[in-house]
Amino acid sequence: MLSMTSATAAAMPRSGIREIMDLAWQTPTCIHLEVGEPDFATPTHIIDAAADALRGGWTKYTPNAGIPALLEAIADKVARNNHIPARTDQITVTVGGVEAIYIALVAVTEPGDAVLVPDPGWPNYRMMTHLLHLDARLYPLRREERFVPVIDDLEPLVTPRTRAIIVNSPSNPVGSIIGADRLAAIGDFARRHSLVVVSDEAYEQITFEPGFVSTASVTDPGRVISCFTFSKSYAMTGWRIGYLVAPPELAPITRKLQEPLISCVSAPTQMAALAALRGPQTVIEEMVTAYRRRRDAVIARLDRHSIEHAHPQGAFYAWVRIAGFTEDAREFALRLLVEREVAVAPGSAFGPSGEGWIRLSLATAESQLLEGVDRLIDFMTKG
Ligand code: PLP
Repeated sequence: MLSMTSATAAAMPRSGIREIMDLAWQTPTCIHLEVGEPDFATPTHIIDAAADALRGGWTKYTPNAGIPALLEAIADKVARNNHIPARTDQITVTVGGVEAIYIALVAVTEPGDAVLVPDPGWPNYRMMTHLLHLDARLYPLRREERFVPVIDDLEPLVTPRTRAIIVNSPSNPVGSIIGADRLAAIGDFARRHSLVVVSDEAYEQITFEPGFVSTASVTDPGRVISCFTFSKSYAMTGWRIGYLVAPPELAPITRKLQEPLISCVSAPTQMAALAALRGPQTVIEEMVTAYRRRRDAVIARLDRHSIEHAHPQGAFYAWVRIAGFTEDAREFALRLLVEREVAVAPGSAFGPSGEGWIRLSLATAESQLLEGVDRLIDFMTKG
């Protein structure tokens, strides 16, 4: 009998973070440093806007691309914050940043095409390329290069079938920010090879140091699909809302693709997002201040014990070297969980270059975070 399961779906790599998460949930006293999710509650004015929307009849389908007032607010925001001049018809509201990236890939590739993907990088990129029958060609983010892409590393990976490059700044998992000059060089590289740049800017507002710029503001915006989310900036992970800004040539396709995928994002969620953009932006600064304080405290502890780590310029992660202890990040994470009740994400979950590293989330209440880091240090120094 033929198997009912699609071979492609069955072969999709499972997230290496999930394994640790599932085990961690069986240990009620465990300290959770494995998940990349803000520990803050969504600000009240955003919740109120959603409740008002529900009572006010926002319970129906909306246009595929999103509610016009939200598209206007997004156009204002990307012009003001990201220096991307976009008409509202270039914007599509999506189910989180994840769907924005998926649509971007569907819009510009055919099965069998190749896409350049960061390594280490967010595991979902590789799951998406797998489902879309794309060849994910991993480009390294190297420690010696402060974990930003180097054009000489990209060049040899390009094949006649390469259609796009995914860039992610600030980066999950390493926290690096790609400066304007390097982004401009990536834009030039993309132009030379006729590639589209899928720019994942999920952590655009979680930055600890200056230097973040949007790719489309320093390269030819006609080649860039910029992907954003409300998840991290406004602590709205569970609401599932993000958006993309596409060049005029690609925008109609991105909107058309919404119909079979999700039709539209839920109406009250869109109204909540509108309130997020039109309301006080100080909520972002308050969260960033907390993340920065936690980053500094974690780094000071690691430095005190000469434990190597990347320098997080943005996002909310610490990328910590465990080599010398073991090269096997999965085994390390499993032992740390069992022996010290601390859950961390094994670096290998983010690609082959992540072997020998672990990722700690700074989006955890400070007392828990520091207790977790102390246990980690104890484990690494005493075994
Ligand atoms: N991009 C990166 C690098 C992420 O880490 C995440 C979430 O963890 C996302 C995109 C998308 O998040 P969401 O779908 O919640 O907007």
